[in-house]
Amino acid sequence: MLNSTPSELLHKIKMEETMAESKKDYYEILGVPKNADDAALKKAYRALAKKYHPDNNPGDTAAEEKFKEVSEAYGVLSDPEKRRQYDQFGHAAFDGGGGFGGFDFNGADMGDIFSDIFGFGDIFGSRGGRGNQYNGPMRGANVRTSIRITFEEAVFGCEKEIEINYKDECGKCHGTGARPGTYPETCPKCSGKGKIVHVQQAPFFGQVQQVQTCPDCNGKGTIIREKCPDCYGTGYVTQKKKIKVSIPAGIDNGQSVRCSGGGEPGINGGERGDLLVEAIVSQHPVFKRQEFNIYSTVSLSFATAALGGPIRIKTVDGEVEYEVKAGTQPETRVRLKGKGVPIVRGRGARGDHFVTLSVYVPERLNEVQREALRNFDAAMRGEVPESTEKHKRKFFK
Ligand SMILES: [Zn+2]
Ligand SMILES: [Zn+2]
Repeated sequence: MLNSTPSELLHKIKMEETMAESKKDYYEILGVPKNADDAALKKAYRALAKKYHPDNNPGDTAAEEKFKEVSEAYGVLSDPEKRRQYDQFGHAAFDGGGGFGGFDFNGADMGDIFSDIFGFGDIFGSRGGRGNQYNGPMRGANVRTSIRITFEEAVFGCEKEIEINYKDECGKCHGTGARPGTYPETCPKCSGKGKIVHVQQAPFFGQVQQVQTCPDCNGKGTIIREKCPDCYGTGYVTQKKKIKVSIPAGIDNGQSVRCSGGGEPGINGGERGDLLVEAIVSQHPVFKRQEFNIYSTVSLSFATAALGGPIRIKTVDGEVEYEVKAGTQPETRVRLKGKGVPIVRGRGARGDHFVTLSVYVPERLNEVQREALRNFDAAMRGEVPESTEKHKRKFFK
């Protein structure tokens, strides 16, 4: 989706500059503030539409133009989705200019980059104070949280409900921060620009422009005289909200799931940030994981290792039977193909499960067992006469 990364904002600033001459701002046309609610929009539109309606101005082409302009502005601003796009991209949103390419700052703070290059700090407002530097739409900040899941939940994916602090526009003032019925006023000190430009003569450089955040409005460009009682003038309220997070099969410890729009609200109609949920995967008593493969160890008796035979191996899909080959050596590793972790977005492909076969030596033996082993040992050295077992085999051959 189109997020307002710094590069896009730069584009937007540039585009607005070029568009400004050709097309008037929709809010200006209707004579309402940027954060006007639906009722205010409707009211303004009705009054203007009535005033410029062709029926009331027969033969007046200027009035007709005006009427078209007003209708177009209202058409966009009364549609929440179109308004959001317009707030974000201006007229470019409807001129096929939606897909911005261009350079990318990789999310670096624009203020920092400019102050590093030009050496006069605060050019785009206070550091870290996103939203102070520019009165257009800004995308909300991302919010991070984490969730603990079991080994199996990570392997097969799961749905989890988590509670987050969800910051949203104040319903009472619709985000203006002003007491209902009042509006934020344009800051007289900076005339709504949010910044003050000083031009100085500097040695070697000639004229140097220094831009300072307006101290009266903190760069907002507006001043709230009467604060909204619900949000104390901030325009935002935070409440606990339960959201469902879908953890994809194959997620690994430390990886995050992105929930679009779960972050902080945008500024001036900008898009919401995202919620990033990091998965903390609990250790499993039997299985270890590396990438998409699973590793475990199974103990075999000496007899099974020597003679071969079926054993049961625990996998994430449940127990499977495995036929051990006669003469299996200690620490032999076998592969259970496709019994590993599903590859994220791998269309059902899975890693493998590697099992180390460990042959155990009994620590305590009774007399019968000891005797059997002694006989066995002697037989291995060829000391003992051929056993009855061997006779039988010879006989039946
Ligand atoms: Zn409020
Ligand atoms: Zn100001």
